[in-house]
Amino acid sequence: MSDSNSSDEQSAAQGLLSHSFVLFGALGDLSLRKLMPALYQLDHAQLLNEDLKIMAVARSAISAGELKQRVEHTLNQYIGEDQLNASSLARFLKRLYYCQVELTQARDYDELKQKLALWHPQITYYLATPPSLYKDICQHLHQANAINQQSRIVVEKPIGHDLASSKLINDKLALYFDESQIFRIDHYLGKETVQNLIALRFANPLFESQWNHQYIDYVEISVAEDVGIEGRWGYFDKAGQMRDMVQNHLLQLLCMVAMDPPSQLTATSIRDEKVKVLRSLKPIDQDKIATQLVLGQYTDGQFQHQPAPGYLNEADANTSSSTETFIALRAEIATWRWAGTPFYLRTGKRMASKVTEIIIHYKPNSHYIFDPSQADIAQNKLIIRLQPYESISLQVLTKEQGIGKNMRLRRDPLHLDFAQTQSQARIPDAYERLVLEALKGNQSLFVRRDEVELAWQWCDQIRQAWFSAELPLEDYPAGSNGPQQACDMIKTHGHRWYEDC
Ligand code: NDP
Repeated sequence: MSDSNSSDEQSAAQGLLSHSFVLFGALGDLSLRKLMPALYQLDHAQLLNEDLKIMAVARSAISAGELKQRVEHTLNQYIGEDQLNASSLARFLKRLYYCQVELTQARDYDELKQKLALWHPQITYYLATPPSLYKDICQHLHQANAINQQSRIVVEKPIGHDLASSKLINDKLALYFDESQIFRIDHYLGKETVQNLIALRFANPLFESQWNHQYIDYVEISVAEDVGIEGRWGYFDKAGQMRDMVQNHLLQLLCMVAMDPPSQLTATSIRDEKVKVLRSLKPIDQDKIATQLVLGQYTDGQFQHQPAPGYLNEADANTSSSTETFIALRAEIATWRWAGTPFYLRTGKRMASKVTEIIIHYKPNSHYIFDPSQADIAQNKLIIRLQPYESISLQVLTKEQGIGKNMRLRRDPLHLDFAQTQSQARIPDAYERLVLEALKGNQSLFVRRDEVELAWQWCDQIRQAWFSAELPLEDYPAGSNGPQQACDMIKTHGHRWYEDC
């Protein structure tokens, strides 16, 4: 895959800021809650092409005026009325056009085709629709001669539900677009702190020189959501946490932590290094699955002192579902850098709090000279927090102040809170960065086809192993830190979660 992509930096789709943006599924949740606010913020920051036009496409019969009203309402809701700048808002709304299209019907594209024929041909298409429509949209755009070498296409997750289905989607896209024109979103890659990981690792020799199995005991990546299913029970139940979270977000974070330094900060170099990591992930076979993986499902519990229903008692639930709402696993990367350093991944719904963090647990000193009763705190930890606020914190050991304390140790943080250290800068939402980079044609923050497929291959193999081994589904009460078995699993390997069970 890297070969077909090797000339991506020179491709016609790269490097030029788009003049036209077509948003399919423009009235959906993602578009109204994330994409329209992102486009407004980019406009306000004067990062869009002056002549950029935005075509909103959905199937509802509304006028352009009604679209603008709806978008203004959305911006008030998600950005805040007092945060909107009147002249930026007026300029942004002027860019908006609407076209009603039933996306499965070829003849419905005629009007869109006529409108786009008058627009600048460098178009970025954003597919914020169910993936089942990708094939129709690409095919009909092709038939309408609306795809050229300068076109780009942005697609949302999920790219399939396993390796075979992801290949089908990728094959369909490849019929009409070159890989250099395809931008697969994983919105975690647009987060400020994930970008900062690149700076932290590769701009600071202090960290990079010790970023390996000799110094790092284990790595933990935890993504805890405090919400449950939020009215999407049917959708979620078909996926589960492995396919909805691990295959994409957690594995992307793992790649950013584990990859070797890219030779340049280009899309090809970065993605080649991520692919090497994905290729080096050891399969988790049936005989190891019980010691490396825990599945859970939340039961009735309490969240913020209020009763919270279990997964099977949520609205629209099928009460016999065995879908996992929690997963914890131990991954191993078979490379020189990481041999013997496990990566523990953990993600769940309806947990005690919403937190996403990567924790680098450093090895203790080979010879320990302090109070033996404190030996368990004698490990440095680097805590890279993505949610609820973005920060990087290094836990160092210092001496408790005062006399007569016999050199008692304490853990203190060297703390970088980006909201404070860079308080003049607003931390942009991930979608702002991703939309801008897609408009610019920079693929570094987007997932290449081989990455998606290798991630599916690894996840499919693990799912197969857990079904064959008939791995049990453990209960955990809504509002807790997950099943006790997840803590037991990591303890059997001599480690513990930073936020313990
Ligand atoms: P919604 O169901 O809220 O919106 C879907 C949009 O697609 C609507 O505008 C709808 O038009 C349009 N649409 C659906 N079918 C047709 C059709 N046959 N012809 C024309 N338009 C159609 O979905 P979301 O916004 O939640 O999600 C969109 C995509 O983004 C999905 O792939 C999802 O997996 C992905 N995603 C969403 C996230 C989110 O936070 N919502 C997060 C990550 C990924 P109309 O309104 O006129 O019916």
